[in-house]
Amino acid sequence: MVRRTPRPEAARMEVLDCIEQKCPSCQRPMWIDYENDRTVTTMTEVVRLILKVRRCQNKDCSRYHKPYRPECEGNWALPKHEFGLDVLAAIGQQRYRHHRTVGEIHAYLQGEGVVISERSVTNLLDRYDELVALSLQTNARLQGLLEEQGQVILAIDGLQPDVGHEVLWVVRDCLSGEVLAACTMLSSTQEDLANWLEELRQMLPVPVIGLVSDGQQSLRKAIARTFPDVPHGLCHFHYLREAARPIYEADRHAKKELKKQVRGVRPLERQAAARSDAVGEVIEGYCLAVRAAITDDGRPPLVASGLRLHQRLTAIAQSLARLRQKGGFLPN
Ligand SMILES: [Zn+2]
Repeated sequence: MVRRTPRPEAARMEVLDCIEQKCPSCQRPMWIDYENDRTVTTMTEVVRLILKVRRCQNKDCSRYHKPYRPECEGNWALPKHEFGLDVLAAIGQQRYRHHRTVGEIHAYLQGEGVVISERSVTNLLDRYDELVALSLQTNARLQGLLEEQGQVILAIDGLQPDVGHEVLWVVRDCLSGEVLAACTMLSSTQEDLANWLEELRQMLPVPVIGLVSDGQQSLRKAIARTFPDVPHGLCHFHYLREAARPIYEADRHAKKELKKQVRGVRPLERQAAARSDAVGEVIEGYCLAVRAAITDDGRPPLVASGLRLHQRLTAIAQSLARLRQKGGFLPN
């Protein structure tokens, strides 16, 4: 397919590792065997994902050399998709809740800052329809695959495009990477989730040996009710992202406000470039420092961009103050 819309560069990188590091079949350690690299466009950013893929090295094991990918990869995007699961959920919601046409959905996504072609919207809407229509019960290919595999590790993710709206729930099998079930739920109470998981449990031809989720309370309780004896792992990435969200939002706001205060750097640069003396050079140096500070993005949630910008601008202001104390020349 010819790409008409150039894809923006990834703004940051995320390294994903597996929660389960022992082979699900023979229990021996699964070592990181190779890395996979994929770029995913979500509703808010373009991210390059580095995936640490593990494989069992035990020649006598039924899972010998079968790749095991980080469990939370599926929370980012479906296999081989370049658009995030959140984009897919948003498209489904725009279509079925707001009754928008493909053209209108395309305009909506562009308005949200997502670089996407209209054709991709059509394709994703087809994928969305397939996803929610998927039935494990009638899918002979999936049934056969699971029976041969003998067990599953489930990853359960909920995507909510808008607060107060319905959630798209997706259950994947981490061993095969296949999506086993998906549905949209308006309320997503513990009761609703437990009923849905119970339906799924009854359709599975093999036992569930592990579960992975973000640990959201109603989901955690629903899982405990439906799969009482199955170990439930929490995805570190999700956990950290959810915990850091309020800080991240506050920091993003702080950064925006700080940037407003240094907008005047451009005319100063022009003035400095027009002079050919040492003062001009000094001013240019400071302007460069401000520019570098603005573009120095941290990697949330571990490094807060707004705080870092504040530190760098404070250092520049202190340096200017020292210059003033020494009686040096200062731009006004
Ligand atoms: Zn093994």
